[in-house]
Amino acid sequence: MCFKVFLSHFKTSQKTQECQARKIDIVFIRSESTSAELKIAVCGIGVAGSYLLSRLKHDHEVVGFERMPEERHDSICAWGTCRPRMEELCAKSGVDFNKYVIHDGKNMYVEMNNKEKFNIGLHGLCTYDKIRLIKDFTKGCKVNYGVSPKLEDLEAEFDIIVDCTGFHRVYLPKLEKDFFLPTYEYKVEYEGKVPYDDFFIKPFANMTGYFWYFPLGDKLAHIGAGDYMKKHIEETDKFLKEYGGKVIKTVGRPIRLATPNLCKPFYKGKVVGVGESIGTVYPLLGEGIIPSMECADIFVRNLGNNEKYEKEVMEHFKIYGKVFNFVRSKLSKDFSLLKQLGDMLSIFRYMKKNEARFGMEIHMRDLMKVAKA
Ligand SMILES: Cc1cc2nc3c(=O)[nH]c(=O)nc-3n(C[C@H](O)[C@H](O)[C@H](O)COP(=O)(O)OP(=O)(O)OC[C@H]3O[C@@H](n4cnc5c(N)ncnc54)[C@H](O)[C@@H]3O)c2cc1C
Repeated sequence: MCFKVFLSHFKTSQKTQECQARKIDIVFIRSESTSAELKIAVCGIGVAGSYLLSRLKHDHEVVGFERMPEERHDSICAWGTCRPRMEELCAKSGVDFNKYVIHDGKNMYVEMNNKEKFNIGLHGLCTYDKIRLIKDFTKGCKVNYGVSPKLEDLEAEFDIIVDCTGFHRVYLPKLEKDFFLPTYEYKVEYEGKVPYDDFFIKPFANMTGYFWYFPLGDKLAHIGAGDYMKKHIEETDKFLKEYGGKVIKTVGRPIRLATPNLCKPFYKGKVVGVGESIGTVYPLLGEGIIPSMECADIFVRNLGNNEKYEKEVMEHFKIYGKVFNFVRSKLSKDFSLLKQLGDMLSIFRYMKKNEARFGMEIHMRDLMKVAKA
């Protein structure tokens, strides 16, 4: 079906039926917002795009576009997140996050490069079925899989085009100074005993990245690594060789660590970026799920007002810039505890204040161990 045909087909069928069925609700839901119904294209159905569809589908005419074919559409990610914050964000879409949780973390085993081992108490960190939640967020929406439409075609049909293509940032200008790490990951099935009963990470020297083992129930786990020094494949294979298991999926893609302050412009013409396309990844952890959903939440609140959206994103992710500078100085071996003590204290205070949001116990001694590695 050609692009214009499927759009008009969608307009007159699915959307109309859905809106008619929900007419009463819409009158009341709209009481919070004064904006008229807009035609919005959401490009990239990852965590940000799918969440946006779920938040906008009752008030606006939304259509999703995903370049992967439906049967191969997956989420390249370790699927780790924090339960309480996800519960709050999903509740805004009427979704119960608890139905997607696979493993509830109690403890994270940490092994430093110098072999020093310690544990971090977990309170909310979990793994969840990320792709199932993505698919469920899109229920009732028209999503075109296996396509990456041209910008001109989208501009002719839609009022707003949201770039949720993550690292690719396909519809926005290229960044002047991007910064990203390569990653590599296996989904592994274990026949007998799993290597670890909970989360395990191994940060690399100079904070160039880390290896992760994220449990996915009794028999499965994501094992992988991201590394600026490009040892990510070697480290993942080393673990696989040591503990065995059957690889049932292999994935990899770069992860953007350049934070929102480095990812402007956020919008151009009808296009607005949401999620990793504008750098919403916490650089110390490579955590992008909650930040990308929070970015989508800010977008919904400021729909149609790009300046306000940009301002709020900049404010919300202000600390990310400091965290990025800290990570980058370690990578370039330019780190000085004396010079960066102020930044480190701000990062510590931020994480301590948001301990519940990160789902783990935050201690200065652990941050220092990582800083000194
Ligand atoms: C290996 C790895 C492990 C990670 N583990 C975690 C973790 O455990 N916890 C965590 O919080 N974060 C993790 N992250 C980060 C997190 O996955 C991302 O930051 C987050 O998913 C970003 O969401 P997004 O929707 O902005 O982009 P994405 O999730 O990357 O989604 C982008 C979507 O756009 C599609 N797309 C791309 N180009 C086009 C195009 N031209 N047209 C249409 N569609 C397109 C892609 O196929 C994809 O579906 C990990 C990242 C990697 C790479």
